[in-house]
Amino acid sequence: MRTVIYPGSFDPITNGHLDVIRRAAKLFDRMVVAVAISESKHPLFNLRERFDLVARAVEDLPNVETDTFEGLLVEYVDKQAAQAVLRGLRAVSDFEFEFQLALMNRKLNDRFETIFMMPKDTYTFLSSSIVKEIARLGGDVSSFVPAHVRDALAEKFAAAAACV
Ligand code: ADP
Repeated sequence: MRTVIYPGSFDPITNGHLDVIRRAAKLFDRMVVAVAISESKHPLFNLRERFDLVARAVEDLPNVETDTFEGLLVEYVDKQAAQAVLRGLRAVSDFEFEFQLALMNRKLNDRFETIFMMPKDTYTFLSSSIVKEIARLGGDVSSFVPAHVRDALAEKFAAAAACV
């Protein structure tokens, strides 16, 4: 059983993440999309919300599970008996940070392998931050995220506007 972990903040999950998930799901027996607490990034959606948005987005993929994790990724990878960690590479700008992270994780655990996948070119410009900014300003994000994520963003910003 070959298992890959796809860790991230997923605040929220986008079509770019999903493109990478679909590609990698074909290569492994089992994939766990692991939603990180990421408190230092002050996420818009809480952990439970991010988990639910991911779980719904991958419900049609039978070998993909959703989970949450806190603490060291190397420990989580061991706990899941996974062979590799998946990360997405959009552009050269992602490379430096991802390279550093992969090597540091390997330092912490020599068996730790990181696999990088590139999304379809139309998703290389996509990030959760950009999607949140467009949604916050009332723009249409339907082509960037699944419909349930678009609705969750609209609800979140409507609630925020009501509080002002
Ligand atoms: P993190 O906080 O760990 O960077 P993200 O949710 O922002 O979490 O990203 C998780 C992973 O998905 C990272 O490897 C990131 O580079 C990748 N990723 C994010 N957006 C895209 C995209 N549009 N296409 C491909 N990979 C992406």
